[in-house]
Amino acid sequence: CRDLSKTFSGPPRLFHRTSQVTAVDRISLQVRAGETLAIVGESGSGKSTLGRLLLRLLTASQGDVFYQGEAITQASGARLNQLRRELQIIFQDPFASLNPRMNVESIVGEPLWLHESLSREARRERVHELLRTVGLPAAWAQRYPHEFSGGQRQRIGIARALASGPKLLLGDEPVSALDVSVQAQVVNLLEGLKQQFGLTLIIVAHGLAVIRHMSDRVAVMYLGQIVELASVEEIFDAPLHPYTQALIASAPQLQPGASRTVPMLQGDLPNPAAPPSGCRFHTRCPWATDECRRLEPINQILPGGRQVACHRWQEINRDRSVITLAPP
Ligand code: SF4
Ligand code: MG
Repeated sequence: CRDLSKTFSGPPRLFHRTSQVTAVDRISLQVRAGETLAIVGESGSGKSTLGRLLLRLLTASQGDVFYQGEAITQASGARLNQLRRELQIIFQDPFASLNPRMNVESIVGEPLWLHESLSREARRERVHELLRTVGLPAAWAQRYPHEFSGGQRQRIGIARALASGPKLLLGDEPVSALDVSVQAQVVNLLEGLKQQFGLTLIIVAHGLAVIRHMSDRVAVMYLGQIVELASVEEIFDAPLHPYTQALIASAPQLQPGASRTVPMLQGDLPNPAAPPSGCRFHTRCPWATDECRRLEPINQILPGGRQVACHRWQEINRDRSVITLAPP
């Protein structure tokens, strides 16, 4: 996507003008075929909105979305239907996303009705195959969502997403509603499916723990913008942006024994309808200066392709030997 923005208008409130929230603010981002890209941020950071814009489940207010080189920002009709097959989403709460009155065969088979002219028998066979693919017995096709555990329901949601033969799967917090013991199983399933079907994955998450073992690259979002984009190793071993550093420091279980030299994240996310001036992170950043409060940092692209949007990233990271600074 290029310069992608999405503004939502809230209902007008008494004595106030219509409130507007720019949930995604001028984001440019490339998702590489076959990779797993994680989009990480607190709730309210715009990560789910960005994901839905990329899948064309939402239409951008500004900017463009491209798919395999084609601008799909305004795609409609038959082309949009085709895109919906290839770009699929898995939701956070499998229970909320499955119709309780439909049995599994109808839920998983519904996209096949929409997109393919299969006979009833062929469709049933295809549903059975999809259930086996996600590790569920084909015989369960006649059951209803309430008969399944959270992890099993998420598998049903994944089977449904696979039904139309997607090339890209977006998981919007795909395991955060599940028990920790089940999370790893679903993560492993997604990784297996990625290999099997040559999928590209986008994983939207508010925590870092899950994405560490399943991502190639990580985009860190703060109030509608990407503040850092790097490989998963760089993000965890040598984060450059103070916000990324704080996120990692707030999850100390990820680095047992690591010394905590980075301050923990203080305070709440500011109101997205009235984001701070300059660098949006300045109200919570221990390094903030007047320049930060005045000027929005530009997104700097470093050798090797990682990106960081901070005025002071070089100073802040000077003593960290793991980071190779750009040659002058
Ligand atoms: Fe902190 Fe300034 Fe960097 Fe923003 S630009 S993250 S306020 S140091
Ligand atoms: Mg969300």
